[in-house]
Amino acid sequence: MFAKVIVDVPAKQTNRPFDYTVPDSLSPWIEVGSRVGVPFGPRILQGFVVGLSDRTDLSPKKLKPVDHVMDLYPPLTPELVELAHWMSRTYLCHELSALQAMVPAALKAKYERYITVNEEEDANPWHVTVSGQDEIVRYIKEKGSVPLDSLLQRFPQESMWIKEQIRSGVLNESQTIKNRVSKKKALTLFPPEPVSQLEVYRELVPPNAKRQREVLDFLLQNPEPIRLTEVMLKLNVGAGTVKGLADKGWVELKEVEVLRDPYAQRNFPRTSPLPLTEEQKRVFEPVRQAVIDSKHEVFLLHGVTGSGKTEVYLQAIQQCLDLGKEAIVLVPEIALTPQMVERFKGRFGDEVAVLHSRLSTGERFDEWRKISMKQVRVVIGARSAIFAPFTKLGLIIIDEEHESSYKQEESPKYHAREVAIERAKAHGASVLLGSATPSLESFYRTLEKEPVAAGASAASRFASSWASSPVPRQGSFFEEEEPPPEPEKPFTLLTMRQRVQNRPLPPVRIVDMRDELKDGNRSMFSRPLHAAIAERLRRKEQSVLLLNRRGYSTFVMCRTCGYTLQCPHCDIALTYHQSTRMVRCHYCGHAERQVTSCPSCDSDHIRYFGTGTQRVEEELGKLFPGIRVIRMDVDTTSEKGSHEKWLTMFRERKADVLLGTQMVAKGLDFPDVTLVGVIAADTVLNLPDFRAGERTFQLLTQVAGRAGRHQLPGEVYVQTYTPEHYSIINAAQHDYDGFIRTELETRLACGYPPYCRLILLTLSHEEIPFLVRASESLAKRLKDLAGQAGLLVSALSESGGAEGMEVLGPVASPIPRIKDRYRFRCMVKYKGGREVSELVGKAVAAFDEMCRQEGLQISVDVDPQLLM
Ligand code: ADP
Ligand code: ZN
Ligand code: ZN
Repeated sequence: MFAKVIVDVPAKQTNRPFDYTVPDSLSPWIEVGSRVGVPFGPRILQGFVVGLSDRTDLSPKKLKPVDHVMDLYPPLTPELVELAHWMSRTYLCHELSALQAMVPAALKAKYERYITVNEEEDANPWHVTVSGQDEIVRYIKEKGSVPLDSLLQRFPQESMWIKEQIRSGVLNESQTIKNRVSKKKALTLFPPEPVSQLEVYRELVPPNAKRQREVLDFLLQNPEPIRLTEVMLKLNVGAGTVKGLADKGWVELKEVEVLRDPYAQRNFPRTSPLPLTEEQKRVFEPVRQAVIDSKHEVFLLHGVTGSGKTEVYLQAIQQCLDLGKEAIVLVPEIALTPQMVERFKGRFGDEVAVLHSRLSTGERFDEWRKISMKQVRVVIGARSAIFAPFTKLGLIIIDEEHESSYKQEESPKYHAREVAIERAKAHGASVLLGSATPSLESFYRTLEKEPVAAGASAASRFASSWASSPVPRQGSFFEEEEPPPEPEKPFTLLTMRQRVQNRPLPPVRIVDMRDELKDGNRSMFSRPLHAAIAERLRRKEQSVLLLNRRGYSTFVMCRTCGYTLQCPHCDIALTYHQSTRMVRCHYCGHAERQVTSCPSCDSDHIRYFGTGTQRVEEELGKLFPGIRVIRMDVDTTSEKGSHEKWLTMFRERKADVLLGTQMVAKGLDFPDVTLVGVIAADTVLNLPDFRAGERTFQLLTQVAGRAGRHQLPGEVYVQTYTPEHYSIINAAQHDYDGFIRTELETRLACGYPPYCRLILLTLSHEEIPFLVRASESLAKRLKDLAGQAGLLVSALSESGGAEGMEVLGPVASPIPRIKDRYRFRCMVKYKGGREVSELVGKAVAAFDEMCRQEGLQISVDVDPQLLM
């Protein structure tokens, strides 16, 4: 047998599989998706098996054998291996980086596997064994536990049998991960057999040992093994109490391996399905039907905030589980949405694994093992949870589908929405995208079926050209023949316009800050917002205040000469971190101690400008003495679990105001919040990015949706210097259709997505002259190739609805230097599909040699989300 292996070559210039022979002893262990060690040059390197075959195009004698297999079970499924191939073609990334993105970090650490004999009676069906295998069992029993490698070396002919016994549970496999993660053990309390013994022991407890009796009573009610710490927590007893019982032999305390469950200490009250509202029924029905029919379909659920999208998700998942299928739920950043986890755990309990970046490596590893060991059938997590190694997917849900965090900014620069659709196709599964403010890209893909009334002329003109030129799925990054892609099906639009129980959407009032200034109000609070906060304090209701500035506003400036502290390696201001009293560069990590005098003029008037939120907090304190404020921003939420802590405090009404950045805008559901204030709506609007209007509309709509979600009616104030901007006006009127109409027209006029697609190429090098030459040469190569293909146009709009491609640049990047490397960029704007990404792949590949020899780096971003 031969294995095709994608090898982790450090230089990473080789983007194709290599053939190896599979020695007989390893053949039972190797599957598509296995990680292996293979000889490569003088070394043994890691790789992924992406194909197995009984023939090879090369001379078998010249092939080297696979050295070893790294995991007992392949960490990836054949479907995921196929997906990695698709990703490398679609995003022009290396297949290896796509494969690596799919396995949890902990697996990348070194670990050893040990085999033991399972001593439990019922796990021992092998009374009759052939002699050779008897010997194996005896050998392991003698040693207690044996490293798998040495077991295989000793019994090379029996590896198949050994594998079968591990799978059937006769042999146990355990892993110790060196130096990073190890499996966790916990003291666990076991009740006696039979449990009725407890009644006897109960009578024997001395009258003064009330606590011991409580433990026994608890075990009588709940006769399952339970962690010691859990008993202590639940009954508020000390470890000594329980150990006392164990010493008497009434109960047993044993070390048991546990999968660390980050939510283990939490009780999630179980909820049952709610009867759906009419609107919910209407949108649920087609999703349910698609899941039952195993029909691949993409639904875009546009539901206003509070319309009950989550209940639709929950019931759609229930449908999946009833059919024995699995489901993935993606949320933008799960640490910010603890309420989502709660609702899913509450409905599906232990069927749910949770994956997110705030978990420790070990915790992530355990959650991931629950998935691959089929202990759970629902995964909820951030972007990378899309790679959960399920094999019977029925549904993928992406909540807040418009969020930019679904796009990974490092290689592989994939978009989780596109990956979800690709995975769902392979499984005959459906995708449910949900949002109160769907992205233009997604909305545009629904147009063929359900055009918006006005603006339809422009939209439908392009809808047809879009349908005939699908998403580029095949690039010739590998120069290999691929079948033509199927045309992409349009998305199905589902709409919910009402909040549950017809609660009204809160009225939004736009406050023109220019008028405030004219009238002599220099405070950051307008008079109406000030009055509204005062009113909430009087009524003992809660407020949410949003200051939309993404973290980096804490710069250091000299008030005498205007000098700002810059990173010595990047062209960007350093950021002051209050907690450590250090200044730090967010791009390269460079850090220095806080300075007390100006490095330029020596003046000691150097000022640390606090985060915007910090200043708002100070001002709130001055204006409303005694006001209780919870501030949530990068400074206050860097600690693990801090989001949850703040939100719980707020829910328990320990504060009047929740003040924060974007993180207070999303997904929160607090009954007593009746006021939402946006301090400055323009901060995103002024960014040089064609999505600025869309992001502003989305953010304002989201944050407005936090008010008045329950009995008490809500109210929203939006402070702005550009009250006439349609993003702000439409958001204030809760008018998504109006917004999308104007925004589609704007995008069409300027030639931006969704009417075309973008590929951003960023080049970097240490020397400017070299970089300029290389960038110009790349732009020229792109144009030449496009010209040969008959695709080149000077402005995309000239090509009408047809295909075409435009090359912009090279120009210096918005941040012209990072980590001492200068940066230039070219932008490809195109209509069309495969040919263009193929062509870009070719152009970049032509620079491989230059990259290798001269240290040039070229990064390719297909469908970039951030243009900064
Ligand atoms: P969205 O995700 O669309 O913003 P949610 O799913 O958070 O909205 O729902 C808003 C509120 O309505 C929640 O408190 C939820 O429990 C409640 N809700 C949802 N569906 C129903 C229903 N069918 N009957 C009663 N209450 C519901
Ligand atoms: Zn100075
Ligand atoms: Zn830097």
